[in-house]
Amino acid sequence: MTTERTPFPALFLSHGAPTLGLEDNATTRFFSAWPGQFPMPRAVIVVSAHWDSGQSISVTAWERMPVIHDFHGFPDALYRLEYPAPGSLDLAQRVAEILTEGDFPPLTLEKSRGLDHGSWVPLRLMYPTAELPVLQLSLPVMWGAQRLYELGRALARLSDDGVMLLASGGAVHNLSTVDREANGKVAGWAATFEDWLQENLLAWNTGHLFNYRRMAPHGVQAHPTEEHLLPLFVAMGAGDTARKPTIVHEGFMYGSLSMLAVQFG
Ligand code: ZN
Repeated sequence: MTTERTPFPALFLSHGAPTLGLEDNATTRFFSAWPGQFPMPRAVIVVSAHWDSGQSISVTAWERMPVIHDFHGFPDALYRLEYPAPGSLDLAQRVAEILTEGDFPPLTLEKSRGLDHGSWVPLRLMYPTAELPVLQLSLPVMWGAQRLYELGRALARLSDDGVMLLASGGAVHNLSTVDREANGKVAGWAATFEDWLQENLLAWNTGHLFNYRRMAPHGVQAHPTEEHLLPLFVAMGAGDTARKPTIVHEGFMYGSLSMLAVQFG
């Protein structure tokens, strides 16, 4: 690992299907390679699409993180995968202070929930030794894009302390259109929406992005529910907005499931 660069960027990643945890493909190789460009962070905070906390906000508060196998009907091998990372109660406390200062709702320390697959599947590939302390922050879906961006802005200062933010979702995510026989073909509407998303990120059109459901072609088809795109806005806020975002990985699986990853800062 290199040591010349801090603070850390924030990363939005598309986690695809849980079976990514058993695969070797372009996306898994991207996850394995990406962290090597940066020093080892002191800790990682993950915001995942799979912990929708509605209007409130919570953070995992464990000494050691259990994982949740939060999916059904997949191969047995997937249920045997573990990621026994340490937690960080100190960092959870720090996040609570930042939210109080920023006039956000109070943070609930969550002691019954572990890491969901949106967190541990990418983390196993990115930091396979599971030595890094990990916190998972819930996704208050009802806050909407702009307030989640502001949450990211508030958390950005943690980057100076060596904390990396990973936002895990999907740039195009409509499970009713998943086609396991797609063989590399990509649905036109999915490609069109993702092109729009990339263009507006690179141009930093926050007004368009925050209103993507109204502004983007096929915005609602790309996200019948919002939870897989909303982590993007947390990463946007957490990254250094003086630097352009970088598309660091792209591709589609199953005809319409985007694997886009965007680095902020
Ligand atoms: Zn997901």
